[in-house]
Amino acid sequence: MSDPFENAMQVVAESAELLGIERTYPGKAILDRLRIPDKIIRFRGSLQRDDGSITVYECYRIQHSDLLGPYKGGIRFHPSVDMSEIMALGLWMTLKTSLVDLPFGGAKGGIAVDPSQLSTAEVERLVRKYTYRLVNDIGPNIDIPAPDMGTGEREMTWIYDEYRKHRDLARAVVTGKPIFIGGSVGRREATGRGLVAVLQEALTDLGWRDCSVAIQGFGKVGAHAALDLHAKGIRVVAVGDVHGAVHDPRGLDIPALAKHAATTGTILGFDGAKPIDDLLGCECDALLPCALGNVITAESAPRIRARLIAEGANGPTTPEADRILAKRGIHILPDILANAGGVIVSYFEWVQNREGFYWEIEEVNEKLIKKITKAYRRVRDFAREKGVSFRHAANSLALEKIVAAMLARGVQ
Ligand code: NAD
Repeated sequence: MSDPFENAMQVVAESAELLGIERTYPGKAILDRLRIPDKIIRFRGSLQRDDGSITVYECYRIQHSDLLGPYKGGIRFHPSVDMSEIMALGLWMTLKTSLVDLPFGGAKGGIAVDPSQLSTAEVERLVRKYTYRLVNDIGPNIDIPAPDMGTGEREMTWIYDEYRKHRDLARAVVTGKPIFIGGSVGRREATGRGLVAVLQEALTDLGWRDCSVAIQGFGKVGAHAALDLHAKGIRVVAVGDVHGAVHDPRGLDIPALAKHAATTGTILGFDGAKPIDDLLGCECDALLPCALGNVITAESAPRIRARLIAEGANGPTTPEADRILAKRGIHILPDILANAGGVIVSYFEWVQNREGFYWEIEEVNEKLIKKITKAYRRVRDFAREKGVSFRHAANSLALEKIVAAMLARGVQ
């Protein structure tokens, strides 16, 4: 079984080796300081169910590093949530915020729960309990949660509301809120939009005129990426969700598929598209994993037919699969770069909350594209210069800044 945190650390260690960090700064325990998070918060969430019974859930918040600013990272509700997964996600947030130049550190939280099995009232009670237990550990200058898999604007509203009950009215305590309570325009679409911007940069560099795309996941990331691709005239030929996948080589009508998914809760049963079993192995030029981690493995990598992978999800590719794909000449746009659009616009939301002045959508989108494109070009240039993968380039650039802050700040 692949261990997400060990996998994440393996890539960091390889990038550190590439930069010669341990040799340049002997005795500074740099990798150890990244391996062990600043703070691990693990607690019991006891939920009173609608029928009066009690169910207990494991809850986590990992504050990985605040070297570059307050902790920042989403909250995941999924049955597979465990310590290793949340630690990996926290580490990736530290790397991601560094790579795209945000004044934040990295964190992640989650609950090992399947929210689809709870009523709305039960989810609300669980979110409020989770927030209450963390009320001393979060705050606009301390740790700022956001949505991830299984959570969204609704949960962020409850976090904000619970925090204001016990602390103050600071809207900047959480991002990914609805617009009416201080969310940013463009946040909902930001991760998908950023992913498409990075993909388009790569297509230009590769000189591809045409590109067919397959997307795993049709949630906050996958659906918005699909809609953006469709709007830009790029063919989305296959889409999958937890229930299955559909395919049309001529290109799916994504706005109609989004409507179908919103009404039925799944992409399955969509008129005019054929159900398929193997989304990862389907015929396409670019594959966008936008669901779970660890889906591109040594087992699935050999059957991937795409020549380009843009990682909307966090950690979709295991290090073993990475090596297989590299040998097969498949180019990967790594997660900490490709899905950074969400945290970039979360940063804009935090800035707007603190300024009390809200921007127009054009300004948000322009700033997002500028920031993520700049990061893409830095990664590309580093990869070309050093002859390394984009993943190692992205990790190395992120690490350079983190290590500089670590050395400048002394022993934390
Ligand atoms: P979401 O809960 O909104 O959507 C998840 C999607 O994945 C759903 O369509 C679900 O049906 C599908 N899915 C779940 N299990 C699956 C399976 N076994 N096979 C195929 N599909 C499956 O989550 P999201 O916010 O879109 O996040 C997706 C990924 O993107 C996660 O890895 C998350 O960490 C990452 N991410 C999210 C954001 C963000 O802003 N939401 C930002 C950066 C990265």
